[in-house]
Amino acid sequence: MRWRSWQLRLKAARMDIVPVPAFSDNYIWLVHDEESGETAVVDPGDAAPVIRAVEQRGWIISQIWNTHWHPDHTGGNLVLKETTGARIFGPAAGNIPGRDVGLAEGEEVRIGDCVGRVIAVPGHTLDHIALIFDDAGVAFVGDTLFAMGCGRLFEGTPQQMFASLQRLAELPAETRLYCAHEYTLSNARFASHAEPGNRAIASRLADVERLREGGRITLPTTTAEERETNPFVRASNWQEFARLRSEKDSFR
Ligand SMILES: [Zn+2]
Repeated sequence: MRWRSWQLRLKAARMDIVPVPAFSDNYIWLVHDEESGETAVVDPGDAAPVIRAVEQRGWIISQIWNTHWHPDHTGGNLVLKETTGARIFGPAAGNIPGRDVGLAEGEEVRIGDCVGRVIAVPGHTLDHIALIFDDAGVAFVGDTLFAMGCGRLFEGTPQQMFASLQRLAELPAETRLYCAHEYTLSNARFASHAEPGNRAIASRLADVERLREGGRITLPTTTAEERETNPFVRASNWQEFARLRSEKDSFR
């Protein structure tokens, strides 16, 4: 048992995760398993930057994983499927172009020996799912949780979104959360407005300003950081969450 968990950790360490910037602020994540040589792509809103990134590395995409139906997360599905033959896994409840396998709460995706479980995280959209790789300490959270923020409520209720964020925040503290947008700077500014006395937020805002001035990525974030600095995660109930979310919608 002990040996098995050591072996899993070693394998998890070989899961290579690379951001591919797309559009103005999307990140498409490439997931490469060294042992099997397999590559998956998470939320390819656009095919061209993904094709360039995998060609540079000599990787071949065999799977596409979508977190929700929005076109900036699925727009590259069909071109990538045509050019690579990749299988498309996406929420069963959403309108996902080219989907081969519908995913719902409790189901799994797999790359090499790494297993990701599917949890339903409705709120931003009703079909939204997250993929949790417990052994690797990795979660792909799409547009549900952002570093220091969360997605807008296009389809779900504040109750749903609050519950979804709480589920993600309950993952182990060191879990790395891979979000689909670079929104951290504007989220950090709102967070410091929402919690002016929070020193962890103030210090993270300074870090994020430095990173963005240098044009650098602020992701992934961790569950521990979000518990300390994300006002939407820190809200004590859905009513407080709802008030913050509508305040953020008009915050400049
Ligand atoms: Zn979205």
